[in-house]
Amino acid sequence: MERTLSIIKPDGVSHGLIGEVIKRLEKNHIKIIAIKMIQMNQKQAQGFYAVHKDRPFFNSLTTFMTSGPVVVMVLEGNNVISKYRDLMGATNYKEAAEGTIRKDFATDIEKNVVHGSDAPETAAFEIGYFFNSFEIMS
Ligand code: ATP
Ligand code: MG
Repeated sequence: MERTLSIIKPDGVSHGLIGEVIKRLEKNHIKIIAIKMIQMNQKQAQGFYAVHKDRPFFNSLTTFMTSGPVVVMVLEGNNVISKYRDLMGATNYKEAAEGTIRKDFATDIEKNVVHGSDAPETAAFEIGYFFNSFEIMS
């Protein structure tokens, strides 16, 4: 069993895509074991995206991620990290496969609707960043 962190980003929330993303998770038998809505401040977004701190898009990304509420979820299942990333599609929606969330709904390389952890180590860090043990159903 694996766990991963999902975020419905500010563009996904403001475009009314919370239900659509959750529908795709459930349709693909991906189990949601924690969920809440939050709005990050700049410090919190910078800490979350610390791996990208030297990238040219870091400031823009953290500003975007603090621009409105997001829905954070913990997902659980066999190979859920790659399974969920397959549902998300490529970072750049123009390169994303047909039928993926980003292909269907992203409007920009930055405003790409969803986040998903990329490895077990990053998933553990990211889940702990947003959730305590009482908030996760096991
Ligand atoms: P995420 O980590 O959000 O799941 P990802 O793993 O597909 O996305 P990363 O390389 O980790 O992609 O980039 C993190 C986020 O930074 C992207 O989802 C996107 O919002 C933004 N981003 C990535 N590359 C660029 C870029 N070249 N220009 C602007 N924003 C970018
Ligand atoms: Mg990433």
